[in-house]
Amino acid sequence: MAWLYLNGEIIEDKDAAISVDDRGFLLGDGLFETMRAYGGRVFRLNAHLARLRESAEFLRISCDLTDADVGEAISELLERNACPDAYVRLTLTRGPLEKGLRLDGSGRPTVLIRVRPFSPHPDELYKRGARLVLSSVRRNSASDLPRHKTLNYLPCLLAKQGAVDAGAFGAVMLNEYGQVAEESLSNLFIVREGRLATPPVHCGLLPGITRAVVMELAGANDVPCDERVLSPADLFGADECFLTNTLMEIMPVRSLDRRPVGGGKPGPLTVRLQGLYRKAVGR
Ligand code: PMP
Repeated sequence: MAWLYLNGEIIEDKDAAISVDDRGFLLGDGLFETMRAYGGRVFRLNAHLARLRESAEFLRISCDLTDADVGEAISELLERNACPDAYVRLTLTRGPLEKGLRLDGSGRPTVLIRVRPFSPHPDELYKRGARLVLSSVRRNSASDLPRHKTLNYLPCLLAKQGAVDAGAFGAVMLNEYGQVAEESLSNLFIVREGRLATPPVHCGLLPGITRAVVMELAGANDVPCDERVLSPADLFGADECFLTNTLMEIMPVRSLDRRPVGGGKPGPLTVRLQGLYRKAVGR
């Protein structure tokens, strides 16, 4: 038996029902957030909800969820499902199709929150680093959509599948100019001569919450960090490279298209940032 939150109520999953007219289902007309709970509390809940709200405003999906309401619902779910260390997903859709295809914000949005026990990647992967490939799936930097975590995830999934088919962990997605945007499901950083660098959002990427935390930690610890345009050559020439996302935190990269990146193993600044991130989670 599992408990979930649907439209203001905590119910058992077997009792949950979403309209067959829901625009999230029919049109991918919705947003989601993936969060991580540690010891019964979500890390950076407010930042996740701020990103969701900003995107909801852009897409004109009504969203009157308060941080307090969502926080309370998640706490109750973590408790009832007895999983304090959890993957937490909030899905928000425009709700049932009511007014043709307009982006109308006056309908009844659907809000679903689910929690699942968290299962981490193997330690071995963190120790050795992830293998990446360059994807042929492009990010469109002229589009607003990569900046929002919409339900249209197929470009990311196609890129990720390309990596899996090639025996790799992840796929670096370039934009239409051949500049690095992000990995299929995470943001990307390099280290070069002691400086961190990550592509700016206008390159066509999701402004990750973990990316922001890493930039904040760098600032607080006198590590210079630039948002700058990166080319694949910058990745091949990097001293270190790592990926960030909420679930995996900071994942070192060991190779790109089978060529070693950095020393082909986690670099010292990557390891230091992993420690700083863990400390921030602990606080
Ligand atoms: N880019 C993409 C395409 C993603 O799916 C994710 C995961 N949400 C990220 C970056 C990292 O974002 P966050 O740090 O907020 O998990």
